[in-house]
Amino acid sequence: MMNKTFIGLLFVASFLACNNAPKETAKEEVVSDTVTSPEVITYPEYSGTEPTKPEETELYEPVPPTVNPTEKNGAPSDAIILFDGTSLDNWVNSEDGTQADWILNDDGSMTVKNKAGDIQTKQKFGDFQLHIEWKSPAEIQGEGQSRANSGVFLQGIYEIQVLDNNNNDTYTNGQVGSIYKQGAPLAKSSVPSGEWNTYDIIYHAPEFNDQGGKIKSATVTVLHNGVLIQDHTEIKGTTPYIGWPKNEPHGKGPIKLQDHGDNSRVSYRNIWLREL
Ligand code: MG
Repeated sequence: MMNKTFIGLLFVASFLACNNAPKETAKEEVVSDTVTSPEVITYPEYSGTEPTKPEETELYEPVPPTVNPTEKNGAPSDAIILFDGTSLDNWVNSEDGTQADWILNDDGSMTVKNKAGDIQTKQKFGDFQLHIEWKSPAEIQGEGQSRANSGVFLQGIYEIQVLDNNNNDTYTNGQVGSIYKQGAPLAKSSVPSGEWNTYDIIYHAPEFNDQGGKIKSATVTVLHNGVLIQDHTEIKGTTPYIGWPKNEPHGKGPIKLQDHGDNSRVSYRNIWLREL
């Protein structure tokens, strides 16, 4: 009797032990044995005999030009001043080429004149560094894409969105600092509505072959109030409200500013550009 009970307990204990045993783990994935060592990048200028003196790796030419960063009233000495608050002489209506008809303010800024149309620089550019400051009105008006909507069109074609996104959500690839309908910004870094924002934009134009095919997309880097929001982002093509991006061949183009046509009341000031 005792033996039978003991054997019975043993049986139950062994059953529980088996049942609680860890499940068999999945077999480790077999790593392919075709992995090769990383490609070694070699630089012709750093090949040959290893230098033994510091002078052997110190260059004196070509000499970079000297640029005074604030010589032109806060703009670099080699900058092209596109707007300094004194006139709109460098700008024309994008539609008909007549003199730009936006509002010139006493404080050195200009404001979109509702339904006066987009304006653009008379001058056209390829690769450039652009500095531009913009402000949405302190007095909030409209929702979503209708709240202080404007835009900076690179080469007159590719829009970097200007929008009052403060407590005003919209689709991310259309928010402030986006490449409109293509690339959401890495961060939202606007100052409060009614204060001045800065955009510092580094742009490289697309390249096309003789047959009209694109061999290189445009790229853009944008700092919004000093915060990186576009990091050498590819621009796939046009930035339409409706439709896919398209990229027809083109040459140099102007800087264009958008009149969104809904009384956006966005202001701009201190616009300068350095050709690259
Ligand atoms: Mg816009």
